[in-house]
Amino acid sequence: MQSFYLDILQERVLIYDGAMGTSVQARELTAADFGGKEGCNDYLVLTRPDVVEEIHASFMEVGCDVLETATFGSSRPKLEEYGLGAKTREQNVAAAQLARRVADRYTTPERPRFVAGSLGPTGFLPSSDDPSLGNVTFEDLAAVFREQAGALIAGGVDVLLIETAQDILEVKAAIFGCRAAMEDEGCRVPIQAQVTLDTSGRMLLGTDVDAAMVTLEALGVDVIGLNCSTGPEYMREPIRALTERCPLPISVIPNAGLPRNEGGRAVYPLEPVPMAEQLASFVNDFGVNAVGGCCGTTPEHLARIVELCGNRAPKQRQVERVPRSPAPSAPPRSSRSRLRRWWASASIRWAAARSSACCWPTTTTRL
Ligand SMILES: [Zn+2]
Repeated sequence: MQSFYLDILQERVLIYDGAMGTSVQARELTAADFGGKEGCNDYLVLTRPDVVEEIHASFMEVGCDVLETATFGSSRPKLEEYGLGAKTREQNVAAAQLARRVADRYTTPERPRFVAGSLGPTGFLPSSDDPSLGNVTFEDLAAVFREQAGALIAGGVDVLLIETAQDILEVKAAIFGCRAAMEDEGCRVPIQAQVTLDTSGRMLLGTDVDAAMVTLEALGVDVIGLNCSTGPEYMREPIRALTERCPLPISVIPNAGLPRNEGGRAVYPLEPVPMAEQLASFVNDFGVNAVGGCCGTTPEHLARIVELCGNRAPKQRQVERVPRSPAPSAPPRSSRSRLRRWWASASIRWAAARSSACCWPTTTTRL
């Protein structure tokens, strides 16, 4: 498809911004700032737009190319958890317009800046046979994404970013929803789909990176990537696999290391320079097209990432097309006990979820 964002992505490595959640936390806001909806970071777009604007600007100032809208948790079911479901469209349009305004302020003819409309998990795991997590139809889930994506497009985003995806069937619903939204809005924008892998290299319900790649390619997304979850070190092999086998542009947006639980608080241990060096190796050795920071990354992290990864053309990749059998439309069904075991093994995720510092555990808070 024709897209300015995709054209530039072919020409140079684009740097995404850093964490919204931990940046909000660092500002020690009051309940009043959140309009009484503490923990709903996205709602700041309506209650304290100046704070969100300042965070966006802090990443533009250090040279990032792409801002993510503060809409990771702005699907109707996630907003409904705070009694804000009725504001879904208003929230997403406003967040996209705000990010657009900041990006445009930093845009120059030589250096365009972009806005990615963030679509996080809805809290459902449609592939799961768990009665509460899997209790949604594909059509209903696609409709949730259609509503959010439509509002983001109306607010002026350059790309729809499906991120921190843990269930490949939810990603499929998101892609269907995004396509329907483009028809609703009479406007086509690229789709970038980023899945989240655990330290064993699999999504929550067991899908590995090869299966995810084949499925996403078949669904016609424009960019494939990984984000959140672990720090870059655990992403190295999956990224090597993706860059060797996938002809599409590849994005990598890790957390600042694997979080530690310190007194109920998630602490992200990776310092700016080592993080930037690992991402630079993905860019220089593997030919990754876009990098940035997820949970725990600060403007300082991004400044170093811009320094070591920015201002260069992406490395040309030789992609090996290996014939393979068609991907399953959904990963193997998973039992509730497997989910519970997974959950129990990572107490840190709970701490992170409660502190709204990490985008990863949103689904599992329902367990
Ligand atoms: Zn994250």
